[in-house]
Amino acid sequence: MIAETAREKITESGLKFTHQRMVVYNALQVSADHPTAEMVFAKVKEANPSISLGTVYKTLENFVKAGLLQKFTDDSGVMRFDPMLETHSHLYCTATQQIKDYKNPELELLLKKYLQANQIEDFEVEEVSLVIKGKTK
Ligand SMILES: [Zn+2]
Repeated sequence: MIAETAREKITESGLKFTHQRMVVYNALQVSADHPTAEMVFAKVKEANPSISLGTVYKTLENFVKAGLLQKFTDDSGVMRFDPMLETHSHLYCTATQQIKDYKNPELELLLKKYLQANQIEDFEVEEVSLVIKGKTK
C-alpha cells in the first residue's frame, strides 16, 4: 500500500517514478524526526546497498523542488527534511538536536493576525511558523 501512495505522489508532482525515488520517499514518510540526508541514507542503504549518498541528496533536492518535501537548516546549519507540508511549528530540543512537529493552528493564527495588525516594513508575511527551543522532559 505504501508503494502505491509513493508512486502516486511522485508521479503527481511531475517527477518520473523510479525505485530509488520510492525508497527515499517512503523513508521520509516514516520518519517524524526531520532527518538529514545522511540519516535518510542510513535508513535506506540497508535494504538498498547500491544506493549512494549522492543519489539520496539529489533525490531529496528533487523532491523539495517538486513540492513533496520542505527543507530547512537547523541550529547547527545542517539541512533537515520535512515531509509535512501544511503550516506547522517545531519543537527543537537543544540537548539532543531532535526536531518534533508542533501543530497549533490557534497559535499560528494568533501570530498571523498580530502580524497583519503590526505590519513589518517592506515585508509581506505569507506564513507563520515557529521554532520553539527547549529541552524534552
Ligand atoms: Zn515538521
